[in-house]
Amino acid sequence: SKILVDDQIIDRKNLIDIEDRGYQFGDGVYEVIGVYEGRPFMMDEHLERLQRSAKEVQLKLPYSMVELRNLLNQLVKANHLDEGIIYLQVTRGAASRWHEFPGEDVQPKTIAYTRAEERMTEVEDQGGHAVLTEDIRWLRCDIKTLNLLPNVLAKQEAKKNGAVEAILHRGETVTEASASNVFIVKNGELFTHPANNHILNGITRQKVLELCRKNNLPVHEQTFTVKDLLAADEVFVTATKSDIIPILEVDGKQIGSGKPGNITAKILQEFRSLIYELVNA
Ligand code: PMP
Repeated sequence: SKILVDDQIIDRKNLIDIEDRGYQFGDGVYEVIGVYEGRPFMMDEHLERLQRSAKEVQLKLPYSMVELRNLLNQLVKANHLDEGIIYLQVTRGAASRWHEFPGEDVQPKTIAYTRAEERMTEVEDQGGHAVLTEDIRWLRCDIKTLNLLPNVLAKQEAKKNGAVEAILHRGETVTEASASNVFIVKNGELFTHPANNHILNGITRQKVLELCRKNNLPVHEQTFTVKDLLAADEVFVTATKSDIIPILEVDGKQIGSGKPGNITAKILQEFRSLIYELVNA
């Protein structure tokens, strides 16, 4: 397959320097963009978030949004990608290993590749289980950086227990999940953690908020507790490509009826309509 290296699309090969700061420090930012029937979904929103992440870690992106959009579209075409994802990352480049930023002469490194992936319609329709784990991450979870070890450990805990996600809590407060945002439904109203430094403001999360408002579903960007989570009528998680996954059980405790709830199903249906509009545009 082809990959993007800086502004060139080339055959995939190993070419990352052992002193790339992404490799040594996790010093970089990234995005994962869903592709449905050959069309990237909400690419501009993802690229805007990349721009914000880069700014927050004082990394100067080497390409404009327009350039990145064109390069990624070219990459999708070069790989004849139908269903899957684009992975894009920009690191602070390769330089002799010192913690502080390298000199101005060191160029940030941009790479992107695509991966074919089936749609996850089965788990979206049927739901899955989650485990709870303490949120041990830093206080800038709003930045999409390469430092994902806490997320990796949390997801592994989920996997070990046959769960699809690990829901994170900081003390009593539910923040998000290892690689997705969390929503609960109680008495017909939705709640999700506000977009502050404790969570990544998911592109899917933002779209779901928009869909709720459009469909007159009351939604609150408000913190809720582990107790609220376990007592919720419905729970679902949102992320790129897996869209919306109903959570039927948390740490072995049944949520609501133990089946995907009506509001979750409604939002999933609305979300799929958006994708349908995209691929038929
Ligand atoms: N939170 C975390 C920690 C994530 O890694 C992700 C992305 N997988 C999300 C939320 C969901 O974000 P998005 O909807 O933009 O994929």
